[in-house]
Amino acid sequence: MAEYDFDLFTIGAGSGGTRAARIAAGHGARVAVAEERYLGGTCVNVGCVPKKLLVYASHFAEDFEDAGGFGWSVGERRHDWPRLIAHKNEEIARLNGVYRRLLEGAGARIFDARAELVDQHTIRVDGQTVTAERILVATGGWPTVPEFPGSDLVINSNDAFFLDDLPERIVIVGGGYIAVEFAGIFSGLGAKVTQLYRGPLFLRGFDDDVRETLAEEMIKKGVDLRFNSVVECVTKTDGGSLLVDLADKETIEADLVMYATGRHPNTAGLGLEAAGVTLDDKGFIVVDDDWRTSVESIFSIGDCTNTIQLTPVAIKEGHILADRLFGPKGRAMDYDAVPSAVFSQPSIGTVGLTEAAARARYTRIDIYKSAFRPMKHTLSGRDERTLMKLVVDRDTDRVVGAHMIGPEAGEIIQGLAVAMKAGATKADFDATVGIHPTSAEEFVTMREPEPEPAQEAAE
Ligand SMILES: Cc1cc2nc3c(=O)[nH]c(=O)nc-3n(C[C@H](O)[C@H](O)[C@H](O)COP(=O)(O)OP(=O)(O)OC[C@H]3O[C@@H](n4cnc5c(N)ncnc54)[C@H](O)[C@@H]3O)c2cc1C
Repeated sequence: MAEYDFDLFTIGAGSGGTRAARIAAGHGARVAVAEERYLGGTCVNVGCVPKKLLVYASHFAEDFEDAGGFGWSVGERRHDWPRLIAHKNEEIARLNGVYRRLLEGAGARIFDARAELVDQHTIRVDGQTVTAERILVATGGWPTVPEFPGSDLVINSNDAFFLDDLPERIVIVGGGYIAVEFAGIFSGLGAKVTQLYRGPLFLRGFDDDVRETLAEEMIKKGVDLRFNSVVECVTKTDGGSLLVDLADKETIEADLVMYATGRHPNTAGLGLEAAGVTLDDKGFIVVDDDWRTSVESIFSIGDCTNTIQLTPVAIKEGHILADRLFGPKGRAMDYDAVPSAVFSQPSIGTVGLTEAAARARYTRIDIYKSAFRPMKHTLSGRDERTLMKLVVDRDTDRVVGAHMIGPEAGEIIQGLAVAMKAGATKADFDATVGIHPTSAEEFVTMREPEPEPAQEAAE
């Protein structure tokens, strides 16, 4: 008889946990997965997937307007938020079913319940105690709303996916990608949106040109963007609206206030400390290069560790870990040049180093930039610009960063990410024939680097 009930027990069936469980079971391991809330985790239920569906919904507003320039007359337009949410919920329920079938089909046992660690090999789940040779903690993260007077009156990104109605006036607090995406969603669907961010410019960590361009474009689209803006308190009026008091003494009246001010790891109350698992000062599980925690038999991947918080990263970590534990070894996780997109309006795609990061790392870099009005808007008349940018290490000619803001930026940057992984040089980009007429072809037709910034040229 086996010493343990399972070879692998995975806590959390999100992006990372599901992949690890599926691959491990495929290698013949006896696998169990516990999921306390929803199969597919954050991405499927309150993240990437529903968000992108809402982005599609909101973009129709501009598409209808743009159609006029192409000869279309579009009649009366009205948006039905409850219908959108009902359709979105149906799609998510379908995906939950797909996840269940994938796991069960691979031979994993699912516990639809919360799991907690008892010790290094023991888990408490669904009123019973089970044992496993190895345990994988893939419990993800949760939105953080700071404590302040009135914080109980605000919603987070999880709640935003299940609103009964679309409020007329919405204040969004935060400067990360989730905040700008929701600003675009709500604004496109017709709400009056004010976005508040306490720093001088949102999307810290993205390329500065991209950040500035997005701010300009969002303002053009009617989002009331306020930087260096700090909320002091939120109160409710007798009439039911919310008053957001800012540190500069201004008050904004709104029907809904959403906080998108970061996320924290889902690691409290899991029994981690009792099992001897070390957490860092922010509550992330500390792991080594093999995703092993301070306890030999316990591993952790995804958003509950201090990794890049993206679904494909969690998935790849889960896949490689399962291979290493139960299948062919060899593949290493490469965290360099992980591409990502922001589904803002217009959208952003980015891979590699920003201009600022490249200047800090390399002695000499060249910047290639192209800013233009996309062809579609010559007839639509829309005043929206696209920006593309390449960052090149002059000494090796390697392209070390590619950034774009404009329609389908994520779709375009994904291909460039492959080229960059393969070590493409600017000469390789130049040798590539463009696809005409596209925006993407600009990436292979930029010939002249930008002039050196003044202080560098003077050195
Ligand atoms: C609004 C939003 C938009 C996003 N958009 C994108 C995007 O466009 N692209 C992208 O790549 N990433 C996006 N992300 C990030 C992405 O969703 C996460 O990086 C990804 O889901 C992390 O996967 P994970 O497996 O680590 O955790 P999760 O997917 O969070 O899964 C963890 C699971 O563990 C379960 N769980 C927790 N504790 C227990 C317990 N004790 N017992 C049982 N189950 C438990 C949770 O219920 C959850 O289902 C977005 C996130 C948000 C919030």
